[in-house]
This record gives sequence, structure tokens and C-alpha cells, in this order.
Amino acid sequence: MTSVFRDEHWIGGAYVPSASAERIGVENPYTEEVFGHVPAGTPEDVDLAVSAARAAFDGWASASPAERGAALTRLHRALAARADEIARIVGLELGTPLKIAKAVQAGLPLTVLAGYAELAAQPAHEETIGNSLVVHEPIGVVGAITPWNYPLHQVVAKVGAALAAGCTVVLKPSELTPLTAYLLADAFAEADLPPGVFNLVTGTGPAVGSAIAGHPGVDMVSFTGSTRTGAAISHAAADRIAKVSLELGGKSANVILDDADVVKAVKVGVGNAFLNSGQTCTAWTRMLVHRAHYDEAVELAAKTASGYTLGDPFDAATRLGPLASAAQKERVRGFIERATARLVAGGLDAPVPGQGHFVAPTVFADVDPDSEIAQEEIFGPVLSIIPFDDDDEAVAIANNSKYGLAGAVWGSDARAVAVARRLRTGAVDVNGGSFNPFAPFGGYKQSGIGRELGAYGLTEFQQVKAIQR
Ligand code: NAD
Repeated sequence: MTSVFRDEHWIGGAYVPSASAERIGVENPYTEEVFGHVPAGTPEDVDLAVSAARAAFDGWASASPAERGAALTRLHRALAARADEIARIVGLELGTPLKIAKAVQAGLPLTVLAGYAELAAQPAHEETIGNSLVVHEPIGVVGAITPWNYPLHQVVAKVGAALAAGCTVVLKPSELTPLTAYLLADAFAEADLPPGVFNLVTGTGPAVGSAIAGHPGVDMVSFTGSTRTGAAISHAAADRIAKVSLELGGKSANVILDDADVVKAVKVGVGNAFLNSGQTCTAWTRMLVHRAHYDEAVELAAKTASGYTLGDPFDAATRLGPLASAAQKERVRGFIERATARLVAGGLDAPVPGQGHFVAPTVFADVDPDSEIAQEEIFGPVLSIIPFDDDDEAVAIANNSKYGLAGAVWGSDARAVAVARRLRTGAVDVNGGSFNPFAPFGGYKQSGIGRELGAYGLTEFQQVKAIQR
């Protein structure tokens, strides 16, 4: 069995012991064995990391675009050399099947970081408005707090953008999947970036996360995770008027119009809903189908879901891994148990492997748009199918959500784009348009505040100054 024990935080350009001797065990959700640990950090560790980030800020903020670009290019090279190890560690700590881990959990953050190395090398945007010169400057020390479902991507989306903008960072990754972030710290060590520009402190949300969110030395908190924690972080930052950006939950709609390629729309839709075992904030967990194709879509979705191979994430045949934890599995099973809609695939009695935190891919049809499974983020492989009669009704059902993160529309091009424009959500894929890692990413309503990725993501970490002449 692989063991990965990390006993230090990465602070001020070195691995340093934690103020606490306590450790947090890291479980493999397939074998259900604890195979590693990290320090259970403390507010004192956060103080040290914030001091290091503050000390590094002036130098990094005033570095030239060429210097910052070169530094991030070195970081990208060092991280790319660890791509296989990243996929392996995410497979161990999260249970993502290896093929998907390589493409998404390792490949995507590398693409995002390469983009930020390029953006860092360009001069900060300036413009003239009347007698004013308008300049963009780094906001300061950034506290980054991330969840477990895409452990490195969510980290790099913040760290890459913040560093490219000239900010310095204190990161707290999820205590469920903290090991991947150490590979990033190792890459920082190898790439020889200035000490203190990036600091890693591991620990729980209540101990380390809230210390970062409430720290007077942190100028901005960038958070990805649940809506509940996002609200707590906003409260903590409000007392000192610190900026907060939030990437939160979702309950996205996949709208299949009557002139859609139904077979493609359903197959791609089911794949999207169950990516990473449904633990994806952008998952299209509500499939809205025009009544003309409804029965066909339900049958095909059920058949597609039932065809998934569940098993060992390191087995090439596995399409669906376990959920991240026993608690997550129980939470997802609770939603299935309480659902009153028509079960057409999966469910609590469907066969799953004898070990690991598995839930069978589950599809409900005839789902009431106001019911719990249509309204709450389940974060597991559970799909709700809902019929509609015309475009207006489809839009109304899609927008009947407290969330607004992602979505999809299938149909003839112009009509599908017209429906996409009416959805109150941060991103819409039309007829299978692929995810763009350089386009702005973020939510409407309770899905968040602010945008990540690409140039929009960098702008979040900047202040704007007007100089009058
Ligand atoms: P979570 O909110 O429980 O935890 C996220 C992070 O916040 C963890 O590092 C945790 O330790 C920390 N935390 C917990 N309590 C805290 C507190 N009081 N103060 C400061 N930090 C605290 O979320 P999770 O269970 O790790 O992730 C799942 C959730 O994340 C889902 O709701 C999902 O939709 C959301 N998510 C959103 C996006 C997005 O980009 N919109 C991406 C991925 C996940």
C-alpha cells in the first residue's frame, strides 16, 4: 500500500513544522484505508504564513511582467513533470478513475497554469478616461480556501491567477484531499519562486479556514466550496471589509428542445451529470426534455446510467469511482431514499462493489421541479428528468433554482442560443460546446460572486486606481 505522510506546512519558501503535533488522516475512498496524513494546522500556523505572504508582497507586486511570467513558466514546468503523480494521488485520495484523473485532475490545472504564465508576462491593463489614467494593481495577500472534488484545479485557478496579478497567497486545501497541494508546493520549491509568494497550511475549516477568512493581514479571500461555508466566510471577511470571491454550488439544467439531436444530448448529458461520480459543481443534474422526446430520453438515460462500470479507480475498465467519503455516500443515499419520483435506474438496492463508498448511478423520471432532488445540490451520481411543453416552460423550470452556475441547451443553433441567453446562469454549453478553460467561470444567484479562469479570473485579484492629470 502506498503511504504518503506529510508533516510540515510550506511557508516562506521552506517546509516548516506545524505548531500542532496533531495530524489529519487521509482515507482512500475505494480501499477505505487511511494511507496518509497532513498536519492539523492552527491559527498560529496561519499567522506565520500570512506574515511570509505580506513580506513577499512588495517584491512580487513590483516584479516586471517578464519576471513574473518567467517564474510561472518555471512553476508550470515543475508541475508538468509531476502530472502522473498528480493523477495517482488524486486517484488515491479522491477515487477518480485514473484515465479521468489524468485528463481532468492533472491536465486541466496544467492548461490553466500555462495560460496564467502567458497572462503574467503581459503588462497590466491601463486605459485613459478623460484626464484620468486608469491602472490595475494587485489587491494584496490572498487567502485561498478550496474543496475536495477537483483538488488541484480549484487550487491552481486561484493561485495561478493571484500570482499572475502580482498577489501573494496563503492556501488551505480541503482536509479530505490535501495531498495534491503538496505536489504544488514541491513544484514551487523546484521552480525557485521568491520565498513567501505561495504558502500552504493544511487543517480543518473551523481551525485554519476561519483563521484565514478572519485574518487582518489577508486582503482578499477566494473560496470554492459549499454555499453554507461561503456565507460563513463572507461574514468573517465583512468585519474588516475584505473582498471575497465565491465559487459555490450548482443545480444546472440540461435543456433538450424538440429539434435537438436527442440521442447525443442524452448521452452527453448523462456523462456530464455523472463526471467525477457526480461530485462536480457544474454537473447538469436536471435533464429537461421536450415532451415529444420524453419517453425516448428517459429510456436512453436509464440505459446509459445502467451501463457504467463501477470499481477500482486504478482499473482501466472503471468509469465511475466511489464517492469521496462515507459521509458523502450517506448524504447522497439520503436524497435517494427521500425521493418520491419514478426510479428508472440505480437506487439504493442496485449492486455496487463490496468495498468503497459507492452509490449506483441513479436516474429519476417525472421529477417535480420543486421537489428536493430537483432543488438541492446532491453531489453524487443522481439525475432528475423533468418534461416540458415549450421553450418558455423550459426556461421557467431551468431558472426555478437558487443556483445558477452552468447549464446546456440542445436544439437548432439560433433557437438554442436564444434559450441559452434566457438562462440565469454563469455558463451555458450549446449543442455540446466544450468547456473553455480561458472563459470566465462563476455563478449567478447562490452559485457565487466573481469569476475565475482566464483574464477575467486575473482581474478578480486586482484593484483599480484612477490617476488624474
Ligand atoms: P465545504 O464548504 O465543506 O469546504 C470547502 C473548504 O472550506 C474546505 O477546505 C473546508 O475545510 C473549508 N471550510 C469549512 N468550513 C469553513 C469555515 N467555517 N471557514 C473557513 N473555511 C471552512 O465544501 P466541500 O464539501 O469541500 O465541497 C463541496 C462543495 O463545493 C459543493 O457544494 C460544490 O458545489 C462546491 N464546489 C463549487 C465549485 C465552484 O466552482 N462553483 C467547485 C467545486 C465545488
